[in-house]
Amino acid sequence: MPTLDKSGKRKKLVVLHRELAACKACPQMIGPVVHGPPIVSAIYLLGQAPGPHEGRIGKPFAWTAGKTLFKWFDEQVGIDEATFRESIYMSAVARCFPGKAKGGGDRRPAPDEIERCEAYVRGEVEILEPKLVIPVGSLAISRVLGDFGKLDGVVGTQTRAPFHGVMTDVIALPHPSGASTWHRVEPGKTLLSKALGLLAAHPEIRKLKRAP
Ligand code: SF4
Repeated sequence: MPTLDKSGKRKKLVVLHRELAACKACPQMIGPVVHGPPIVSAIYLLGQAPGPHEGRIGKPFAWTAGKTLFKWFDEQVGIDEATFRESIYMSAVARCFPGKAKGGGDRRPAPDEIERCEAYVRGEVEILEPKLVIPVGSLAISRVLGDFGKLDGVVGTQTRAPFHGVMTDVIALPHPSGASTWHRVEPGKTLLSKALGLLAAHPEIRKLKRAP
């Protein structure tokens, strides 16, 4: 597909969002579909799935995990939530709330649901051709880098990898969910700081930074 200009990319994203908003392909998923605005950005964040509140609020990362994620970016990357939301394209492995798991916490999207929703991720990546991808949490990281082993080996690194046919920089983050303790204890704490430092230094992030 030839590279589109900014307005062409935005138009394509609007069409994709229309299809996404009408999607009811997964019977176990709880609507509505959650997606961010059609921002033409070189930075693509891939989360796991919305929680129980995002559908009602109508935007991704709108509850507790979002608070933690935006705190990380505000304090250690130099990007506040408003700048983040208006400058970085926010996507997810699944765009509907999967419901609660039997043992508590949110259900992890099933392989067939991920497979179905991946068509939208592919479409977005083909349109945006991101220069930096930020997968958040193990599930999102595995969709970008494949079988990566443990979080300890991937968070705090920067790598180049093909993602839906686009060569891009990848800087992974742990999931900011309150249910996870990985990023609060060592070595996770130090590796998270390293990852946020890599983000702060990345040329695409530096373009968004507040003036000193
Ligand atoms: S999770 Fe994705 S594929 Fe499944 S219904 Fe929601 S938008 Fe459609």
